[in-house]
Amino acid sequence: MKRADFFTLLKQVPKAELHIHIEAVITMASVKKLYKKRFGKAMPKDEEKSLFDYDDLSGFIAAFLKVQDLFTEVSDFDLVFNDFAKYLENNNVKYCEAFFAPSAFVKKGFKYSDMVENFSKNIKKIKNEKDITIKLLTDVSRTFGLENAQANYKMFKDSPSPEIIGIGLGGAEVKGPCNLFGPVFVQAHKDGYHAVAHAGEDVGPESVWDAVKILSSERIGHGISSIQDEKLVTYLKEKQIPLEICPTSNVFTKKYVKTMEEHPVRALYDAGVLVTIGSDDPVFFKTTVNEEYWNLYSKLNFTLAEIEDLICNSFKAAFLAESKKASFIREVKKAFKDYKAEQKELF
Ligand SMILES: [Zn+2]
Repeated sequence: MKRADFFTLLKQVPKAELHIHIEAVITMASVKKLYKKRFGKAMPKDEEKSLFDYDDLSGFIAAFLKVQDLFTEVSDFDLVFNDFAKYLENNNVKYCEAFFAPSAFVKKGFKYSDMVENFSKNIKKIKNEKDITIKLLTDVSRTFGLENAQANYKMFKDSPSPEIIGIGLGGAEVKGPCNLFGPVFVQAHKDGYHAVAHAGEDVGPESVWDAVKILSSERIGHGISSIQDEKLVTYLKEKQIPLEICPTSNVFTKKYVKTMEEHPVRALYDAGVLVTIGSDDPVFFKTTVNEEYWNLYSKLNFTLAEIEDLICNSFKAAFLAESKKASFIREVKKAFKDYKAEQKELF
């Protein structure tokens, strides 16, 4: 199947995306607006050109910090959500669970409760206008230790909102191993919130073990180093603990894979692990969730039936009621069936 046909098909298939960071959907147009507001002049052309021009992890982190630095008030997030809605619509993502990391903004003096209010307003607007559901997971952050994560958790708990359904653990995996954050996760589970952690992205399978055993993480962000440990792969399969795999992001950071063709998503899927596909940081890694499915199809020999299965997995692994999941999955199957019936010559 040609690229154009594949994208036409994917545009018709409803999807869930479960691993994406909200600041990472911002477009250059919005960056330029924020720059003008922050510095009172247009963004210089060379800065504009170089912002997303990097090919290593430190370049990516520097760009991420630069973008965060441009925010001057909470209402700047309106631009992010505007771009987010367009991204989701372009990829026909009907349900999204996204991460938001408050630390950098709280340090600027933004009030967490004001951000929550802004996010809820924008999420409701997107639901009304486009019938797309967004839920957020607040990243308590592993970078600054347990106390900081506990403070973030307190902020999260003190500003409840139906749009923010739980916590995530992101940031520097090497600096802040999962096992340090047990108390925050135990509390979150006790309080009835969802809790997920990035693990096995930058550290070996022991990090994934800690995420499932100590944090009882309901899903694992990335988890690709699990492939090094047969027992862990069997455990993930038996417990059906979903992995949120973001192939381009992993190739970009070059920790466990250097090329798309050698990505362990193929082996993990074949082993029966519940794999879901995400884009992680679409603007920063120049990708989209549809592009990720295309990577799997064109470079990792995933068949169309397997792509359909992965898209169903994205709903299976979502924090949605079972009846909702079933109805989305029916829609996915119908979209594939309809497309095949329309385009008989391609099959
Ligand atoms: Zn991530």
